[in-house]
Amino acid sequence: MKIRQLGLAVSGFTTAARATCDYKPQVDDLALQESIKLENLLPRSQKLQDFAYATEARNRVAGSPGHVATVDYIISELEATGAYDIERQPFTTTIQEEGSYRITVDNVEWNAGELQFSASGDVTAPLVVVSNLGCTPEDYPAAVAGNIALISRGTCEFGLKSSLAGAAGAIGALIYDNVPGDAPLSGTLGSAPRPTGPYVPTVGTSNNNGTALVQVINSGTEVIAHLDVETTITDVTSDNVLATTKCGNKDSVLMFGAHTDSVPPGPGINDDGSGTVALIEVAKQLAAYQTTNAIRFGFWSAEEVGLVGSTYYVEHLSADALAQIRAYLNFDMIASPNFIHGIYDGDGSAFNLTGPRGSAELEHFLETYFTPYNSVPTEFSGRSDYAAFIDFGVPSGGTFTGAEQLKTEAEVALFGGVAGAPYDANYHQAGDTIDNLNTEAFIIHARAIAHAAAVFGESFDMLPPKEPASVTRFKRDLRRRRNEDQMRGVKWSHDHRREVGDGVGHTHAGCLAGKMVAGMKS
Ligand SMILES: [Zn+2]
Repeated sequence: MKIRQLGLAVSGFTTAARATCDYKPQVDDLALQESIKLENLLPRSQKLQDFAYATEARNRVAGSPGHVATVDYIISELEATGAYDIERQPFTTTIQEEGSYRITVDNVEWNAGELQFSASGDVTAPLVVVSNLGCTPEDYPAAVAGNIALISRGTCEFGLKSSLAGAAGAIGALIYDNVPGDAPLSGTLGSAPRPTGPYVPTVGTSNNNGTALVQVINSGTEVIAHLDVETTITDVTSDNVLATTKCGNKDSVLMFGAHTDSVPPGPGINDDGSGTVALIEVAKQLAAYQTTNAIRFGFWSAEEVGLVGSTYYVEHLSADALAQIRAYLNFDMIASPNFIHGIYDGDGSAFNLTGPRGSAELEHFLETYFTPYNSVPTEFSGRSDYAAFIDFGVPSGGTFTGAEQLKTEAEVALFGGVAGAPYDANYHQAGDTIDNLNTEAFIIHARAIAHAAAVFGESFDMLPPKEPASVTRFKRDLRRRRNEDQMRGVKWSHDHRREVGDGVGHTHAGCLAGKMVAGMKS
């Protein structure tokens, strides 16, 4: 040890960080993968759940005590390794702190779905069916004035529907799911204000309920609904955490990301406690090695209110710092109980929505890892924290084990599990707990992260050069103009939608059911 130190001093490598690195072995792919163990992952999942349950709200909503404890835990775990430069990045965002949603229809109480940022109010009135999908003012008949608008999910944001209902004089809105089933629709309207006007009290219901209501009302029967919504909306400050290896070339950085916040109804142990825990554990084990390229772990806050933390991070990078990020891999829900092995469709083969140049190679890399377990492409629509990275031309990818959508027979043939049941029946609910994690999926996906760290930590040779900034800028501007138009209810042509890569026309595949940032949520 001493001899080696002397040698280093002579050859001029005298900084502490450099010396620390040289005592570490070069990363070993298989050894790193094998060092990731369920017995180390699950106690961390339990920790996150304990943080949530130690609070009155029993969740880890961005900036709440359960979330602050999560962030502090990540920092203390990674600081203990001595292997990372750690940055806490605070930012402020508007969140819904509390919400209660109730609905009765003809005096029968139904399960109410939470649509965050709804206006508060207690309203009782007949339901009036809105034409089409309620995405333009013309869809709202004069009869909605003074009544409650009944609107289908689809094509445009929930928030646009609520504000257009208000603009048409409705005193409330009931939005029903367009995915068959009995689960009440939940999601977010996105924080107000909108150019189309304020929200009205808005509640979600299931497809079965909604379509039954439409049928009854269209047959001429009046149906009285009572919506009772109470929301508390506040500005909160919370922190992203960035942990970058002290070893490795910082001009050539591999980034991983997961989000640290949950939705209000539950502790979020799959969404996205699973990604958070896997990144912590990989970072811990990786600390024993050095890599040629630097590796940065991004722990994003406020994903659940609209990808706020990751967007803030990317938008505040200098041009140089952005250029240094060679690839981004996102892990949001990797232990779903009725799992698929989903890989973001970076090459657009399945969903025709391609990521920046290099994303296809990242997808193929992950597909190769998953060969023994099978995998399916999952839509690359900008509905998790990779969205901002895509917007700025960073090759992106990642894995996903499924949210509220239903597993198909074909997927059961590949992965087992239950056809016709959600991938994660507890998605965005109180039941998203450690008891409902699928440990088989969890360990496979956590080791995929280790594998990526080992391979890209050594070389990015398998990736083509990043696409030119001009191409990225063009795509981003197009997407933003489209999003702004969408906020005003202006529709774009189908071709443009495809070109800028959103999810219109496809079923929802991401972790979120109606977020603002990517614009089009159906
Ligand atoms: Zn998530």
